[in-house]
Amino acid sequence: MLRVAVVGGGPSGSCAAEVLAKAGIKTWLFERKLDNAKPCGGAIPLCMVDEFDLPESIIDRKVRNMKMISPSNREVDISLDKVYSKEDKSEYIGMCRREVMDAFLRNRAADLGANLVNGLVTKIDTGSNRQGPYTLTYSDYSSGEITGQAKTLEVDLIVGADGANSRVAKAMDAGDYNYAVAFQERIKLPEKEMEYYEDLAEMYVGTDVSPDFYGWVFPKYDHVAVGTGTMQKNQSLIKSLQAGVRERAKKRLVHGEVIKVEAHPIPEHPRPRRVVGRMALVGDAAGYVTKSSGEGIYFAAKSGRMCAEQIVESSQAGKRIPTEGDLKKYLKKWDRKYGTTYTVLAILQAIFYSNDTAREAFVAMCDDMDVQRLTFDSYLYKKVVAMNPWQQIKLSLLTVDALARGLFRPKTIYKPVPSAVRSDEEVNAMLAVKTITGGIKVKAKKDSDKNASSKSDERDPALTNKS
Ligand SMILES: Cc1cc2nc3c(=O)[nH]c(=O)nc-3n(C[C@H](O)[C@H](O)[C@H](O)COP(=O)(O)OP(=O)(O)OC[C@H]3O[C@@H](n4cnc5c(N)ncnc54)[C@H](O)[C@@H]3O)c2cc1C
Repeated sequence: MLRVAVVGGGPSGSCAAEVLAKAGIKTWLFERKLDNAKPCGGAIPLCMVDEFDLPESIIDRKVRNMKMISPSNREVDISLDKVYSKEDKSEYIGMCRREVMDAFLRNRAADLGANLVNGLVTKIDTGSNRQGPYTLTYSDYSSGEITGQAKTLEVDLIVGADGANSRVAKAMDAGDYNYAVAFQERIKLPEKEMEYYEDLAEMYVGTDVSPDFYGWVFPKYDHVAVGTGTMQKNQSLIKSLQAGVRERAKKRLVHGEVIKVEAHPIPEHPRPRRVVGRMALVGDAAGYVTKSSGEGIYFAAKSGRMCAEQIVESSQAGKRIPTEGDLKKYLKKWDRKYGTTYTVLAILQAIFYSNDTAREAFVAMCDDMDVQRLTFDSYLYKKVVAMNPWQQIKLSLLTVDALARGLFRPKTIYKPVPSAVRSDEEVNAMLAVKTITGGIKVKAKKDSDKNASSKSDERDPALTNKS
């Protein structure tokens, strides 16, 4: 009987373990921290709710409104009421707290028969030529002791679902990938202030919030997740970029209290090797986060499921040990299904996040109803959306226009949409009484240092933490 260890109990690991256990395969699911709160915006597409049978209880908020905010603070409202139907509110972006969602998926896998081990895998002996059998050494925390008890387990196959700093990837010599760093503060707002974010999320673009990504304010149960990301080479800027997001969103964050500061790497490219011997990587360990949107939860869950389905099929539900070739079939299916999505989003990121003029054009483009529908259809339902010839021509023209503006950088002056809820005088008066407490230290900004310019090489301890 086939023995499988799934290392990592995030969405990718739990969804893999669930499929394996359902098929009757002997499965161990290792998670170092059962109450782990993965640093994450927690936004999930609607299709994930049905496809992974998620209960409503794990969704904190159903977002139906997005504000795209340009470098000059031009605000474009994207409302699902306009894109879809006003009456039928069935479409939404789900906002989750990862500690809630991950615990649900993990416990479901355990209920279906996976052996859930509260343990940190510290070493993997991969056998000769990395072909197994594999011996995992781990610290077992199930007794509740802090130090854990050293144990070993022998298995025939490993699914590496242990996130961006994957130990399984190291054991199989999977190679490195380019990564981004993301920084996030969870800010608790008074109930009255939270009303503004009832079903609204914000995305900010501009050099001040990220030279190559975007900043966000995503609503959760009783707080907002405020964060930003940037490529590894700009890592030293991350705190000044976070200060940039706070500055831009300050009108809505007055009187907030930072309740958690978190940071984590985000893989930006698949690893050079995702299957070696009988070890396969899924989710962040494999490098499955999309560019442009930084979306990884759905792709983690889906890759865990697809990898496990391949294992079930190739092993005839656990009767034989799959070969490396068998496991590689999962990669082929994955690349065929999502290769184009990754490529298109990488191109969009290169075009639209390259400079502030291109970003202005990008936000302006988001005002177009066809662009909104196309974006939401492909995000919410993860399907390739067919466009009529007119839509294709229009989209191409808008993209060329954005590209040209980015290249030639003409001066663009926009009149900000007055949708910010307060006047500056009112904000300043409120901030004078009480400002955001906790989190990073934000100095009062002079106009001259509006753009991110901190050369501080100080590394946030959270960035150097291994997941
Ligand atoms: C700040 C930030 C914001 C983000 N926002 C979004 C968003 O809004 N929407 C979205 O779709 N994606 C978002 N992402 C990306 C998303 O978080 C990841 O793509 C997703 O969590 C990947 O899931 P995973 O299961 O592959 O890995 P993870 O979620 O990282 O899970 C890995 C698990 O393995 C465990 N583990 C690690 N090592 C070991 C070990 N040696 N032994 C035992 N257990 C181990 C960890 O404790 C963890 O629970 C964001 C990422 C960041 C950093």
